[in-house]
Amino acid sequence: MKQKTMHKNFLQKAEDLLTSCQLRKTHPRLEILRALLQTNCPLTQEQIAERIGSRSPDKTTIYRTLMTLMQHNLVHQAYLKGRARYFEPAGRCRADQCHPHFTCTSCGKTHCFYDAEIPAVRNIPAGFLVRHSQLRLEGLCANCQNDSACQPDPDNS
Ligand SMILES: [Zn+2]
Ligand SMILES: [Zn+2]
Ligand SMILES: [Zn+2]
Repeated sequence: MKQKTMHKNFLQKAEDLLTSCQLRKTHPRLEILRALLQTNCPLTQEQIAERIGSRSPDKTTIYRTLMTLMQHNLVHQAYLKGRARYFEPAGRCRADQCHPHFTCTSCGKTHCFYDAEIPAVRNIPAGFLVRHSQLRLEGLCANCQNDSACQPDPDNS
């Protein structure tokens, strides 16, 4: 249902986000935000560069820009996979809680669960104040569950 609005001008959206944080609209910031906004899944720094193509800023600039965008809460680090950090627009998360990410232990694909409800964490030790939470889920995706149903278990062969 969000699909329609996704086709709005992503560059305009990127400009609006920078304006809302009183950040200057530099070429790297606009291009990186646009690349993240127009993609439906989190991206690594390399994937961002690929999507921007020939106009892409260099690696160091992309890294520094991502850090700036994270500091202003425009971009979140969605998750880490191996040593790769995956980024996505912060607008896809609630202020106090990121949507959970589910990684399939069979095919390795990670999915965003935008609508999953996460219960509040209870029994936080006294003196600690939780401001934000991120949850990582693991299991079998729908595809892999179907596969294992009709194929012999590889461990038994
Ligand atoms: Zn988030
Ligand atoms: Zn899978
Ligand atoms: Zn996500």
